[in-house]
Amino acid sequence: MDEKKVIVVGGGITGLATAYYLQKEAREKQLPIKVKLIEASDRLGGVISTEKRDALSLKEGRILSCEKNECDEIDRRSWP
Ligand SMILES: Cc1cc2nc3c(=O)[nH]c(=O)nc-3n(C[C@H](O)[C@H](O)[C@H](O)COP(=O)(O)OP(=O)(O)OC[C@H]3O[C@@H](n4cnc5c(N)ncnc54)[C@H](O)[C@@H]3O)c2cc1C
Repeated sequence: MDEKKVIVVGGGITGLATAYYLQKEAREKQLPIKVKLIEASDRLGGVISTEKRDALSLKEGRILSCEKNECDEIDRRSWP
């Protein structure tokens, strides 16, 4: 079988998970698939980031909640 190349655009959680599971599936089933992930920024994780302050770490992100076809985007910060 010819080798297939898959390009995953974006290194947020969606792209990272997609690339990870594609590679895992390819390895386990010995499929000739080559996965490449392209990220525009200088760090992976997309909207998810962890800011370390002293002994604490602050996880930052956005939440999209959908109800009755209406989506409200809420900024959220949480201290673990
Ligand atoms: C503490 C916390 C709690 C959360 N709780 C919830 C929850 O309860 N429910 C929920 O639904 N969500 C929740 N979220 C939100 C969830 O984390 C986001 O929905 C998710 O991270 C989005 O990931 P994504 O990969 O789809 O997009 P993004 O994180 O936006 O990643 C997209 C990536 O693609 C890159 N990119 C864009 N365009 C290009 C291009 N042309 N070329 C290359 N790269 C490109 C960007 O630079 C970025 O890195 C939470 C997040 C946090 C941090």
